[in-house]
Amino acid sequence: MATISLPAAEVQETKKQESKNASGKQSGTQYVYYFGGGKADGDGKMKDVLGGKGAGLAEMTNAGLPVPPGFTIQTEACREYMRSGGVSKDVDRQMDEALAKLEALQGQKLGTGENPLLVSVRSGAKFSMPGMMDTILNLGLNDKSVESLAKLSNNPRFAADSYRRLIQMFGNVVLDIEKSAFDEVFDAKKKQKKAKLDTDLDAKALQEVIVEYKKVVKKHAKRDFPQDPREQLVMARDAVFRSWQNDRAKTYRRINNIDDMLGTAVNVQAMVFGNLGETSGTGVGFTRNPANGDKMFYGEFLLNAQGEDVVSGVRTPVPILELHKIMPEVYEQLRDITTRLEKHYKDMQDFEFTIQDGKLYMLQTRNGKRTGPAAVRVAIQMVNEGLITKEEAIFRVEPNQVYEFLLPRLDERGLKVADVLTSKGLPASPGAAVGQIVFTADEAVEKAGHGVQKNPVILVRAETTPEDIHGMEVAVGILTSRGGMTSHAAVVTRGMGKCCVAGAGEIEVDDKAGQMRVKGQVFKAGDWISLDGSTGRVIKGKLNTVDPKKDDPDLMTIMAWAEPFRKLGVRANADIPRDAIQARAFGAEGIGLCRTEHMFFGEEKIPHMRAMILADNEKDRRAALKKLLPMQRKDFAGVFKAMDGLPVTIRTLDPPLHEFLPRREDLMVDIALLSSSNTKRKKELVRAYRDYGVRSAGDLKKILPGLLSRVEQLHEFNPMLGHRGCRLGITYPEITEMQARAIFEAAVEVAKKGVKVFPEVMIPLVATVKEMANQGAIVRRMAEEVFKEKGMKISYMVGTMIELPRAALVADEIAKEAEFFSFGTNDLTQTTFGFSRDDVNKVLPTYLAEGILKQDPFAALDQEGVGQLVKIATERGRKTRPTLKVGICGEHGGEPSSVEFCHRVGLNYVSCSPFRVLTARLAAAQAGASDKLKVEGGRTK
Ligand code: PEP
Ligand code: MG
Repeated sequence: MATISLPAAEVQETKKQESKNASGKQSGTQYVYYFGGGKADGDGKMKDVLGGKGAGLAEMTNAGLPVPPGFTIQTEACREYMRSGGVSKDVDRQMDEALAKLEALQGQKLGTGENPLLVSVRSGAKFSMPGMMDTILNLGLNDKSVESLAKLSNNPRFAADSYRRLIQMFGNVVLDIEKSAFDEVFDAKKKQKKAKLDTDLDAKALQEVIVEYKKVVKKHAKRDFPQDPREQLVMARDAVFRSWQNDRAKTYRRINNIDDMLGTAVNVQAMVFGNLGETSGTGVGFTRNPANGDKMFYGEFLLNAQGEDVVSGVRTPVPILELHKIMPEVYEQLRDITTRLEKHYKDMQDFEFTIQDGKLYMLQTRNGKRTGPAAVRVAIQMVNEGLITKEEAIFRVEPNQVYEFLLPRLDERGLKVADVLTSKGLPASPGAAVGQIVFTADEAVEKAGHGVQKNPVILVRAETTPEDIHGMEVAVGILTSRGGMTSHAAVVTRGMGKCCVAGAGEIEVDDKAGQMRVKGQVFKAGDWISLDGSTGRVIKGKLNTVDPKKDDPDLMTIMAWAEPFRKLGVRANADIPRDAIQARAFGAEGIGLCRTEHMFFGEEKIPHMRAMILADNEKDRRAALKKLLPMQRKDFAGVFKAMDGLPVTIRTLDPPLHEFLPRREDLMVDIALLSSSNTKRKKELVRAYRDYGVRSAGDLKKILPGLLSRVEQLHEFNPMLGHRGCRLGITYPEITEMQARAIFEAAVEVAKKGVKVFPEVMIPLVATVKEMANQGAIVRRMAEEVFKEKGMKISYMVGTMIELPRAALVADEIAKEAEFFSFGTNDLTQTTFGFSRDDVNKVLPTYLAEGILKQDPFAALDQEGVGQLVKIATERGRKTRPTLKVGICGEHGGEPSSVEFCHRVGLNYVSCSPFRVLTARLAAAQAGASDKLKVEGGRTK
């Protein structure tokens, strides 16, 4: 069982509180909220306290909907449990009172008498975390009450089946016994009875299973299965609280940025049975299609089944329209209720229901998770239907979701009909994925790796369970052979914006044998497949993907509604005209960072760049720079043209030089093996070292040792803190001279053709005002020279990046020389934490798992630490120069929570990669609108 350790101060706090409770004083906290008989203590707004599920149950009860009665133990009890490993006496007392009230309403007693009360015990946090925490059904059954249930239902098989399910769930969730220990017993019984399906086991066989299950409990938990119903309830409640801290729940919270301190509520509710026979059933549904937003009643159900059977994907359910044929009245009632719920909540609902003997019960309603395109579509429809305003609509789309409009599709031209393995999978989450098959989550992590994606993998499972979450996180796509549109795989991948094909029934997944069989073909781990999550097709081999349609009319509509609220400018980081054009199409209002070193990676430029780096005297360096000048000018002219009328920030050279040179170790090996290399190998070496002047095998011996000695001279132990940034331009001023000349020559050249240019020259990695002054002077001198030569003046600015803590602290000084600031939060994060950007992935997974860091600080801005420096630098800089333009161009510029932060601290703009421009625009608009509308900005969960 998990133990939770606490800081000493908190333990003391809890002890004080406990002693207070033990001395008989009551804390005054309402821990338990009752609902039943048409009235609830709580209501739908109390998600913080009751969790999403509890709040929904209270609201539905108050609205007079058919909800099985029960009570919710609020989230504070879970937080108490996390702090002290137990709950206070008040929780127990209030729970007993609520139970007594429930028993009185039902005319039953928990697990006792001829008509025993049975309950479900379910988790329910503020934000839905599908399947991540635990649930226990049929609680209250024991050796006696199972007999009463058999008599009452006149169905001994049903009673025995319910009891064995309870022992199994309780054993696994509460007593930590592996599921497989129970599965082995069950499978052995099926074998013995020659039963194919679970349902082939009769009451007698199930009673034998119960006897065996109890032995499993005794053996593994060293205790008997508790016969006392109240003891069952207390143990189940505490286990649900503990499940808040299980690994999969923690991972889910990390991925979805949910606060670890929220805790879960526990819902205890009178059981209704969907597995009482052919007039019973259970299902889940959405009031609109969660994949594309179509306005249609959408859902699935199973006759004669218990709740978890549908969501777990163990049986493939039938479309909800079928219910219309089987039980038309129930269907109409369900439609009516869910339509009312949608109108009431003014949002698409995701609901769960059970039919017991022809009577409908609502078990849950909540705002449904949906894909990006569906979110946009539903928001627009609801505005048109008069349900919500345009302002509300822009909060219905999570900024990262607009990215899904930009997802790739499979390139149909490369598709051979014979390669389509199935077209009958469910299009559970859109986009395309191409990768190598893996059959387990661990294998996925091993192959795909954490952080940087090593190999694209597709996780293939019969069905996914919450235990697969770590594999789903790293896979590019998910394929399941079972389960519906609301199965675990479908719901979770939609939330992740990841391609998924679910319920592809023609595919047989045999993970024990490490095989997938379909159409008589066998696929093994490592084989390539392609998925189309928008149509549900699975295709053999490695297809190409094509770019999506980026001017979707729905997307344009929502962006047009959002735009007027945005105060923060949005620019793009782009180094070449193609990216600049792309960024502009997404609405970028300028280039916030053009990394000039990226311009040198082109085939014709790299030899000159290398020659420039390797030069050991100014003359040689100038010669190489002379060759680079016209190429740079051409590149700059291209970017200026693409951004006609908009500002372009060009950064002077900031290369970690090692990225351009051969690895020292490789070079040493090549030299050492040179004399024993055969002709073929020598040919390879000539090709590899062509850029360094090697033309023939004979050159190798002459050139390589010299190259090694220069590489040795240039070698740096920590190149990220080495000879880069403005340090390079200060030690070799001719580099800045050449770049500034290229910028201004290009600017004049295009301006003469009528292009409006606004160059902003940016000096990187500045720590002192003198560095800035040194480089600023060179840039200004070159500008004057070029303007004089060409007979034309252009207005321009010279500014700096703020990427070192010192720069942030002396920003008032630096602003005397710099006309603008741009936060390089990649380096600023690196230097503030003292983490190496390139090596942080060695420690990050542990830091995240241990909760030392909540998020990767290179992905979402560390507002507490790095954010302070951003704030300080902005304030100090503007004190010196009130009109100082301030932006951000680190990766954080496209991450919604960081964008919101930049809005709050009054930056002028954010700059991000072209494909994140739409996300940044929406996040900035939400931040602006939340000021105006006084609503919670950022995520809409
Ligand atoms: C930064 O450091 O945030 C930045 C944008 O510069 P680079 O990533 O090129 O170091
Ligand atoms: Mg940087």
